[in-house]
Amino acid sequence: DGDSRRRKRARLTSANEAKKLACPYYKRNPRKYSKWTSCPGPGWDEVHRVKAHLYKRHTLPLQCPRCWEPFRSEARFREHLQQDPPCAVLANQKIVDGFTKEQEKMLRSRRRSRPETSRVDKWKEVYTILFPDDDVDNLPSPYYETIDSDARGGIGDYSVFLRREMPALVRQELDLMFQDELQDMEVTLRPRIEQMMIELQPRLLRMFQESE
Ligand SMILES: [Zn+2]
Ligand SMILES: [Zn+2]
Repeated sequence: DGDSRRRKRARLTSANEAKKLACPYYKRNPRKYSKWTSCPGPGWDEVHRVKAHLYKRHTLPLQCPRCWEPFRSEARFREHLQQDPPCAVLANQKIVDGFTKEQEKMLRSRRRSRPETSRVDKWKEVYTILFPDDDVDNLPSPYYETIDSDARGGIGDYSVFLRREMPALVRQELDLMFQDELQDMEVTLRPRIEQMMIELQPRLLRMFQESE
C-alpha cells in the first residue's frame, strides 16, 4: 500500500544520502581513472568537495590551439608559439582529459543552482558542464558502483567508448567541414559524412588503446 511504499522510498532516499559522490571523470572512464589518486573513491559527501577534487586533479594543461600539443610550462608554450615556421593547424585528435578555463568559470558560478537543488542534481550539473556532448538522458549515477570496476577491458568496453567519444568528434569534423565548403554542402555533405564515419573507426580504436 501507499504507506509502505512511502516508507520504502524514505529508506531508499536516506540510503542514497549516505552514499559518497564520485569523481565525474572516473564515472565516465573508470578504466583510466581507477589508477589515479582519489578518483576511484572513497568519494565525497558534498558537491563542493567533488569540485575541490576537480580543481586539484583535472584542470587542463596548456594546449596549443593550432596543433593541440600539451605543455607543462608557460615558457615552453611561448617557445612553441614563436617557432618559425609555425606548427600546422590540426583537428584535435589527442584525448587530453580536463576542463578549460571557461568550464571552470561555469563550475565556480554559484548562480547556476538554487539552494533547494538536490546534491544528485548538482552533481549532474557538474557532469554536463564537464562533458557537454554527452547524452543527458544517459548520464551515469553519481555514486560509486561495483559495476564501474567490472566494466573494464575488452571490446564491449570499446563500444561504450565509441558511444562516449563519437558525438564530440563528429561535431568537430562538421565544424571543420562547414568552415571550408559551405557553398556546395548540399551535394557533397551526405557522402562525406558517411565516409568520415567509416574513417573515424580506426582512429577511435587507436584513441581507445591510448586512453589508459
Ligand atoms: Zn578525479
Ligand atoms: Zn602548436
